[in-house]
Amino acid sequence: MVLFAVGLGATFGSVSVAEGASAQNQIQREAEISDVRIGQHGQRTRVVLDVDRELKFEIFTLPDPYRVVVNLPEVLWKLDDAAVPENKGLLSRMRYGLFAPGTSRMVLDVKGPVNVANSFMLKPVNGGRWRFVMDLAPTSETEFLEALAQQRAKARQSLDELVAKVTPDSPPVLATPTLSKDQRATSVAVIAPRRPSVSGKRIIAIDAGHGGVDPGTIGVGKTYEKNVTLAMARDLRTALEATGRYKVVLTRDRDIFLRLRDRVQVARDANADLFISIHADSVPNRKTRGLSIYTLSERASDKEAAKLAAKENKSDLIAGIDLSSESKDVTNILLDLAQRETMNQSARLAQELVGELRRQVMLLPNSHRFAGFAVLKAPDMPSVLVEAGFLSNRQDERNLLNSGYRQSMAGAMVKGIDQHFIGTEEARIH
Ligand SMILES: [Zn+2]
Repeated sequence: MVLFAVGLGATFGSVSVAEGASAQNQIQREAEISDVRIGQHGQRTRVVLDVDRELKFEIFTLPDPYRVVVNLPEVLWKLDDAAVPENKGLLSRMRYGLFAPGTSRMVLDVKGPVNVANSFMLKPVNGGRWRFVMDLAPTSETEFLEALAQQRAKARQSLDELVAKVTPDSPPVLATPTLSKDQRATSVAVIAPRRPSVSGKRIIAIDAGHGGVDPGTIGVGKTYEKNVTLAMARDLRTALEATGRYKVVLTRDRDIFLRLRDRVQVARDANADLFISIHADSVPNRKTRGLSIYTLSERASDKEAAKLAAKENKSDLIAGIDLSSESKDVTNILLDLAQRETMNQSARLAQELVGELRRQVMLLPNSHRFAGFAVLKAPDMPSVLVEAGFLSNRQDERNLLNSGYRQSMAGAMVKGIDQHFIGTEEARIH
């Protein structure tokens, strides 16, 4: 048995529980996790978290690659990022952070198939802290997969029960209009006209890459990509809104995980005119520096771009999401005419941004590149991904941590975005 739900119903993480948790947080601050330790006892690897109170938890395992995921109520992680254990016993790496409002998560990458032999909360001894304890034991692949099948069957059953409980009160599902074959054929080529925003302002969606349980890349000076992307997104928002011409929607405005498709959805729900995803890269060569901008394409412009897209597309996997029921090939791009037109507009935006940014910051050679980024796949919203620099380079890392530098970068991006809309207007008039 792999799944342990201690003192929790099957609805852990669902809306009702999450709301309950955040309501509770208003009265009582979150639990604090102050230390993490890994010990090896014979074949078993023990994971211990020190915490200031008893916690409810849920554990499950995932394949491809082998992972152990621990869901907790929203907690404060008071850990020294630089001292988080890695490559000990069965553990290769671990990460932690906010997964969704009300739910924190710890994800452990393990070296092979494991089972959770034990998991419990230990009461404080002599005025010490509560401890969360989990023992991992090596297992065979067959046993791992059997346990996984049981775990999934149980999850499905809980979901069915939940649906059965909820359905009687739910509003009727609206029928989806059925299209004839011809209608379907034409519908792919048509972009629905955008509603102008109420204020008459252009709406720009800014997506701070990674977040919460997904730290992104980690710099030479231990800077987390998720933190600099959020700082850049906020600075760009300030610069855009200061013009009075733009309304900005951030996909996230705190240290929280978001699925790639949800990032795009936030932008679409806001009826955004542009989508700008912000990241920072790292590579083994510490001398590599400079900013580059990526747009979607069926074929990557170069090997590095393809590699980068593969890395950025792994975010959901890193956060401990079971992707087994989804298409494995996230870079698969179904192109239709609307998407092609959007891709042309995205490429133009990238050129305009590069044109302005080169006056302010150092660029990577071939500053505009192409690859199959999952987050750039909105068919009707021009989208670019900015890799603002390399956290593997000391100077780039220092720059991205500097608010003056970020502001001049944001200023250049505002000019590029202005250029883009001037161009779009001219194309419409002629
Ligand atoms: Zn990234």
